[in-house]
Amino acid sequence: MDKIKITNLEVFCHHGVYKEENVLGQKFLVSVELYAQLSAAAKKDDILQSVNYGQVCHFIKEEMEKNTYKLIETLTEKLAEAILIHFPLVEKIKIEVKKPWAPILLPIETVAVEMERKWHLVYLSLGSNLGDKESNLNVAIDMLRTNPRCKVTKVSNYIQTEPVGGVEQGDFLNCALELKTLLSPEELLDYIGKIEQKLMRIRTIHWGPRTIDLDILLYDYEVIYSERLIIPHPQMQYRGFVLEPMCTIAPEVKHPVFGKTMYQLYQEYLKQ
Ligand code: AMP
Repeated sequence: MDKIKITNLEVFCHHGVYKEENVLGQKFLVSVELYAQLSAAAKKDDILQSVNYGQVCHFIKEEMEKNTYKLIETLTEKLAEAILIHFPLVEKIKIEVKKPWAPILLPIETVAVEMERKWHLVYLSLGSNLGDKESNLNVAIDMLRTNPRCKVTKVSNYIQTEPVGGVEQGDFLNCALELKTLLSPEELLDYIGKIEQKLMRIRTIHWGPRTIDLDILLYDYEVIYSERLIIPHPQMQYRGFVLEPMCTIAPEVKHPVFGKTMYQLYQEYLKQ
């Protein structure tokens, strides 16, 4: 992917573990590589379609002067995320923050922290079969939209489906959505848990009625198997209410374990 590089932007600010650092301040040097699609800007010779590196430099300076952190690790991660959020064309960032005057009482050229952060591509499945189902789905999606570390990029139509799992209950309203997020898989799981709590999900019967249920279907092309989280979602290939809406927003997206597209998985599901 194309990138814009800024090297050793000098900013005087007050980050550090020691009080003296917070009072006196010192020099920091910031370098970034901003990954973005630049061909439209290049072809049209139009800065509005690019990432304005002047604005990025001023933004970095303001952010570094606005807050005071003890660790350059914290400073670096906060800067990376703030740039990704503030400049929507930037899909990925590599950032290095140097602290050449770090007070360690030994002669060093510099100390630095380097990080890489990006918007992760995620697919979620949502379902509701209690109360005002449409409003429950809307509220859940709004809560994703209002999180600055999430961008909802596609939402399928809402479809009415019959319950699976043998419990006597009303029909579900389901949808799937595409999300770009800076949250890790575990942070995203925590956040969807908060959405479920806010909508007062009732967790009485397994596979029983619920005001809202959110599942992480896919997270980039990752395969995760931990105590809290299985990704890709282990049931998705068996569920028409997942595959049908996924086919409308991401038919070509591949399942990282089966190597098949959503479209192929849905066709196989329909033949069963
Ligand atoms: P359910 O609400 O029935 O989907 O189950 C939620 C529980 O499944 C949570 O406690 C999660 O820790 C766990 N879980 C495992 N993998 C996933 C996933 N991919 N998406 C959502 N929840 C998951």
